[in-house]
Amino acid sequence: MTDTSSTAPIVDVLCVGAGFSGLYAAYKAAAQGWTFAGYETAPDVGGTWFWNTYPGARCDVESVYYSYSFSEELQQEWTWSERFAPQAEILSYINHVAGRFDLRRHFRFNTKVIAANWLPDEHLWELTLDSGDTRRGRYLLAGSGGLSTPKDFDVPGLENFTGLTVSTSRWTISLDDLAGKRVAVIGTGSSGVQCIPLIAEVADHLTVFQRTPNYVFPARNARLPAQTVAEIKSNYPAIREVCRQSLGGIPDRPVTDCAFDVSDEERQERYERAYERSGFLGVGAEFADLLTNPEANETAAEFARQKIRQIVRDPRTASLLEPRFHPLGAKRSCFGTDFYETFNRPNVSLVSLRDEPIATLTSDSIVTERGSYDVDAVVLAIGFDAFTGPLFALNVTTPEAGTLRDAWSDGVRTYLGIMTAGFPNFFMIGGPQSPALASNVVVTIEQAVDWITDLITHAKAEGCDVIEPATEAQDDWVSITEATVNQTLYATTDSWYRGSNVTGKPSTFLGYVGGVGKYRRMCAEIAKRDYPGVRIG
Ligand code: FAD
Repeated sequence: MTDTSSTAPIVDVLCVGAGFSGLYAAYKAAAQGWTFAGYETAPDVGGTWFWNTYPGARCDVESVYYSYSFSEELQQEWTWSERFAPQAEILSYINHVAGRFDLRRHFRFNTKVIAANWLPDEHLWELTLDSGDTRRGRYLLAGSGGLSTPKDFDVPGLENFTGLTVSTSRWTISLDDLAGKRVAVIGTGSSGVQCIPLIAEVADHLTVFQRTPNYVFPARNARLPAQTVAEIKSNYPAIREVCRQSLGGIPDRPVTDCAFDVSDEERQERYERAYERSGFLGVGAEFADLLTNPEANETAAEFARQKIRQIVRDPRTASLLEPRFHPLGAKRSCFGTDFYETFNRPNVSLVSLRDEPIATLTSDSIVTERGSYDVDAVVLAIGFDAFTGPLFALNVTTPEAGTLRDAWSDGVRTYLGIMTAGFPNFFMIGGPQSPALASNVVVTIEQAVDWITDLITHAKAEGCDVIEPATEAQDDWVSITEATVNQTLYATTDSWYRGSNVTGKPSTFLGYVGGVGKYRRMCAEIAKRDYPGVRIG
């Protein structure tokens, strides 16, 4: 366990978080012979997969890709059981990694970092922990996650409710606790889509409160046949390399033709085949221009709506579920099992919050502007204060720049999504304006940690101990991320991708959407040229 006594030695690397990011950072630091002190609020490793234990939680990037690639032994010895592993299996995997590489010894658990202050004279970061202890180190790595700070429920009256309240991102009950109850699920993003069908099976009645109808495709989860696993394992290094050079960190299908290059019949047939395939390489990836041409996108969007009308028997409910407020893919698409079918159950009903926003909650009901719904339990599936939420909560501060929150008061500004001007020796793993938002995040995490490690190694070799991006290089990166997203339909849509889900959050698109392969090649070129955008002193 990490020492935090007042006499604790200064470490090379301080790190926040023991999810995929923090664990890989610890592994890499140990491999370099660097001392490392990591802190984690949770009692154990896992990050996302420790906290999000709601019924139905599972990844929606296929597990054979959504896993570490850094150790051939690890990828040979671990066998995924399903196409999209459930939360418990992903958590077992992360536990296995922590045990196999003896990583827990680098972390102190049940410990929250509440402040991080740069000491300019010593060229050190000092962390303040919720225990009151402090700890100093040369480099600070934020592995605090993009989706680790639950969004506040911004509707008045939750405190009036005397029934059971639980959030998907901090699930504390069992599904049985909802059995026979009148349950409300608020939110139909990825978590809502995954838990709604399972809650419907046990609830006396389930009322789903939907603000924005989303595009939900069948996950088509299945057991992974032994032969598939064997083929993947025998080919893993090559598969991983394809992922690293891809757009989204998964093996892309080479698509070059556009939606209107083919006849209406052929387009429909291709959407049907893509619908059977599902996943991020499904309907939304069938033609090259779906995320850039609104008319092309509308053909795929209408295909998705038609599927909803075919599945959902009640025309009014089907109509409310049809996504009409944003192009397909411009917000994160969801993948579920029996999501739309669930609305055919006699014990399930849908309330559109666009038509009747929640006014308040009473002790036993949710009151909207049009009616009142009696419930015994409220499940909040309302998402996260993405990317900046966990970073701002660290209270990262330097005497010159002030807090990160102040520095980014008009919007996020980073260099490569990894560093930010005014905050020396501070590195974000899978940070805002990195490819994390629109990729298989583990691919992005491994690349970031490797790149940061190389940069620190380079600085050490030069006899330097301060690393900070130049403002001009940062300005260029912000321009690149904006220009890249402005070529796509992401730019047309308000979503958590740009902070629109949190009241008062400045609007910045929180990711680089040019692709993990292109990004990797840019980062490699920067390293090859001895980091021209970075001041090393
Ligand atoms: P996290 O896993 O979020 O871990 C960060 C850790 O930092 C947390 O444990 C947190 O407690 C800790 N922490 C934060 N602040 C502090 C502090 N101040 N002090 C101490 N500890 C702190 N991505 C994909 O690519 N594919 C998927 O299929 C996918 N599915 C997802 C499903 C769900 C339900 C969710 C919520 C996210 C999903 N993601 C998915 C995104 C997922 O967050 C990342 O893939 C990945 O787990 C991020 O790892 P991380 O270590 O960077 O962050």
